[in-house]
Amino acid sequence: MTLAKTRSRNRYQFYIASVDTEMRRRRELEKDLRDALAREQFYLVYQPQISYRDHRVVGVEALIRWQHPEHGMVPPDLFIPLAEQNGTIIAIGEWVLDQACKQLRDWHDQGFTDLRMAVNLSTVQLHHAELPRVVNNLLQIYRLPPRSLELEVTETGLMEDISTAAQHLLSLRRSGALIAIDDFGTGYSSLSYLKSLPLDKIKIDKSFVQDLLDDDDDATIVRAIIQLGKSLGMQVIAEGVETAEQEAYIISEGCHEGQGYFYSKPCRHGNWALI
Ligand code: C2E
Ligand code: MG
Ligand code: MG
Repeated sequence: MTLAKTRSRNRYQFYIASVDTEMRRRRELEKDLRDALAREQFYLVYQPQISYRDHRVVGVEALIRWQHPEHGMVPPDLFIPLAEQNGTIIAIGEWVLDQACKQLRDWHDQGFTDLRMAVNLSTVQLHHAELPRVVNNLLQIYRLPPRSLELEVTETGLMEDISTAAQHLLSLRRSGALIAIDDFGTGYSSLSYLKSLPLDKIKIDKSFVQDLLDDDDDATIVRAIIQLGKSLGMQVIAEGVETAEQEAYIISEGCHEGQGYFYSKPCRHGNWALI
């Protein structure tokens, strides 16, 4: 029952032993999540974002990794939903923001003074009243210039409670952060709401980018998202760029930036100057 509910309501799930094992594993992971921060099992990896104006690295996205002592690497797609359910996402999210800001300070000190840091925010964090204060503090503590921190929120998260989301985004923006909408195209966006939200950037979901050469519909969707973003005065970045052909297409359609394995996999300490 729990599995059917978490996977999307209105579905059934047969009881089989493997489901039972999966449920047990989830419960175990959920319990372990509570101690993972204190036990220093998390770390961040960074993936560069390339500007198509001059093909230089203009930003990096911080992505969390969990090294579990028994299960090895647990992917964020699996544990972030668990952390959202048991509330640990608030502490984990603050740790991510702190680490990412500290790393950005380091890179600025090394001379990459225009580098921007993108950090993923869970919807739970976005609706947490303390978030703007946390972000404000970090920008001050690490002396980061305005617009050097970008917060990525997902489409579905934004649209769930649009008025609260809009208020929180506004106060985050007042602190000097940029706002990007992640995985764009996969959720349910109302275009009129999109216009009214304080957004700086659209990230085209990698599922469209990956198939655009084989699937005319995906190519059309990518083109339409680029045009939509540009006409709303936003920056547009494509995620999941893996080949030169994909890059050529999105550049020809006027996309501003790209991110993906074609440039670099996410890594712990990147030497972005070499790309
Ligand atoms: P996302 O923010 O959309 O991140 C992009 C994901 O695509 C990352 O997976 C990245 O490693 C992967 N990726 C990058 N380039 C390519 C490519 O060229 N091809 C393919 N196939 N994949 C590529 P990852 O690191 O496993 O993260 C998955 C999701 O977990 C993220 O999706 C984000 O929603 C969430 N996440 C990661 N770190 C955090 C975090 O610190 N906080 C929160 N709340 N969520 C996070
Ligand atoms: Mg992201
Ligand atoms: Mg994404």
